[in-house]
Amino acid sequence: MTELRVVEEDFINLNPLQTGGRTTPDVRKAVNSFIDGYSVCDWCLGDVNTIKNPDIQGLRDDIGKFLGADEVILTNGCREAKYAVMQAVCKKGGKVLADVNRHYSTDVAAELAGLKMEFVQNSGSPEFKIRAEDYAKRIDEVSPDLVLLTHVDGNYGNVADAAKVGAICRKKGVPFILNAAYSAGRMLVDNKKIRADFIACSGHKSWAVGGGNIGLLGVNNDFKDKVLKRSSEYKNKILGILGCSARGSSAVALLNSFPSVKKRVKDWGKEVKNAQWFANKMLSINGVELIGENPHQHDLMQFSTPVFYEISQKHKKKGYFLYKFLEEKGVRGLKAGRTKNFKVSTYGLGMEKLKYVFEVFREAAKL
Ligand SMILES: *Cc1c(COP(=O)(O)O)cnc(C)c1O
Repeated sequence: MTELRVVEEDFINLNPLQTGGRTTPDVRKAVNSFIDGYSVCDWCLGDVNTIKNPDIQGLRDDIGKFLGADEVILTNGCREAKYAVMQAVCKKGGKVLADVNRHYSTDVAAELAGLKMEFVQNSGSPEFKIRAEDYAKRIDEVSPDLVLLTHVDGNYGNVADAAKVGAICRKKGVPFILNAAYSAGRMLVDNKKIRADFIACSGHKSWAVGGGNIGLLGVNNDFKDKVLKRSSEYKNKILGILGCSARGSSAVALLNSFPSVKKRVKDWGKEVKNAQWFANKMLSINGVELIGENPHQHDLMQFSTPVFYEISQKHKKKGYFLYKFLEEKGVRGLKAGRTKNFKVSTYGLGMEKLKYVFEVFREAAKL
């Protein structure tokens, strides 16, 4: 048998990919009991989205209200949600205008849909911010079929002004998809304010969902028929996600995590405060710089850390010294071998653990 994974049990985990997907005990129990194939399909009438036992239909309705989206469907991650929209909304060989801070899955989805990518640049070093107003000019230059904004990017943890981009897209009459992989589920994302036509979310990244892959696509009424179009032969099956998408233990995980997600988004202000405390403390270590928005507005942050690189040049464990040192102190989540710069997430850790983690970094800088 594979060795059991104990990262959440035995360590403080800083891996930005994992902190927002960390599961509750309820989710873990539910996932186990629905682990077998097609487990949610006992009472299915032809579409996973309308199953009432377990209540996936009710879950989608609740999440629709939570996100301010008219209709929500389950997808295989945020990436499939983006692909489903791109292939349905854009004309053949058309263009998607996105921010340069986008995730690679945006490019891959566009490539598979046969679309060309155009970009809105960021402000460059050290903040790499996306300025919402730059979208207006680029929309005029490019005439895209679809505009995409990465609400919070995975490199710098910058929070873009989604409502401003939403207003620009409305004014210009271009469909707008918000990539909320690092935002919705952590913070409240209210599409009544943002007015995106589509919201793509990641369950395993930001909705405390383990048990495999799941995402969400929120679609507003104007685009429902186009994006949720059914197969001509199989009237229950949505074409853009190949009929039925995420289901089984992933769907049940989301069903059981959603109550805790609804609660936890109310603590976002506290999460940001903790993140800012941690970022500022790290900046007190010799030569450390924040790469991204400062003051920081998100738990994901990137640091430039020449001090650790210098130590690695002399240390017998070379670039691995930092990972090893942290591991010995019960801290995981940095990429092994990295010292020059790295990303961490402070999400859900609370001040006591963050204070400890900072002390561990401070000690490491003295090696
Ligand atoms: C992780 C990430 C994704 C991919 O999410 P999946 O749910 O795994 O498809 C997309 N966009 C951003 C910005 C991400 O950080």
